[in-house]
Amino acid sequence: MSRSVLVTGGNRGIGLAIARALADAGDQVAITYRSGEPPAGFLAVKCDITDPEQVEQAYKEIEEKQGRVEVLVANAGVTRDQLLLRMSEDDFASVLDTNLTGTFRVVKRAARGMLRARTGRIVLISSVVGLLGSAGQANYAASKAGMVGFARSLARELGSRGITCNVVAPGFVDTDMTRVLSDEQRASITDQVPLGRYAQPEEIAATVRFLASDEAAYITGAVIPVDGGLGMGH
Ligand code: NDP
Repeated sequence: MSRSVLVTGGNRGIGLAIARALADAGDQVAITYRSGEPPAGFLAVKCDITDPEQVEQAYKEIEEKQGRVEVLVANAGVTRDQLLLRMSEDDFASVLDTNLTGTFRVVKRAARGMLRARTGRIVLISSVVGLLGSAGQANYAASKAGMVGFARSLARELGSRGITCNVVAPGFVDTDMTRVLSDEQRASITDQVPLGRYAQPEEIAATVRFLASDEAAYITGAVIPVDGGLGMGH
């Protein structure tokens, strides 16, 4: 059955791979983008998740054109790496506002329709860094760890209404976000990953597709690592 899906940040990277995987599985997929030309084949809605008004407008457009959101993948995220003593108030607040508060905004809006329908699937894209920590990424790691507490609270709050809420925690994935790293940094990361390589975005998408499927109906509040073994034990 074709469901109405929203993937935030579905215009590139991991989000685009998720959007493609769900569309290939037969779903109708809306994606958000902020600028430029969004990829074809999806309902593309312009939306910056730091702006509550734009989030509301995006949902209205999706509901009009595709129906209420039945599957939400909160994927949009940013980094602004800096060592603690050089990290500005804005470096910290802006990453939290996008990754954590932005997730809150899109999830809250989707939950309204899901609660009414007494069914729904919410998948949040966190990071192995939220559990392991990462020097120079205190803002990002805090935001990604926050997503776990947020998801687990929602799993408890929404479970009795047939809504699942799970977290996927990718390791290092080959996208624009990690392409800014130097060859040396990339090599040192790969050395720490038991599988000895970066993930492809499609490998994250496959897990999201599973969590959004009927087969995953009894999984909620879970944090699923897709990290090549990097975070084992966390
Ligand atoms: P990219 O940098 O390639 O893409 C980021 C996406 O998020 C873009 O679609 C971007 O939209 C969107 N986005 C950023 N800020 C906002 C905003 N304020 N409003 C709406 N959309 C926004 O990153 P990845 O694909 O690598 O990452 C996707 C998710 O996966 C992120 O949450 C990231 O933290 C997480 N992750 C990534 C890992 C990696 O190694 N790459 C590892 C673990 C987790 P736009 O095109 O408009 O900028």
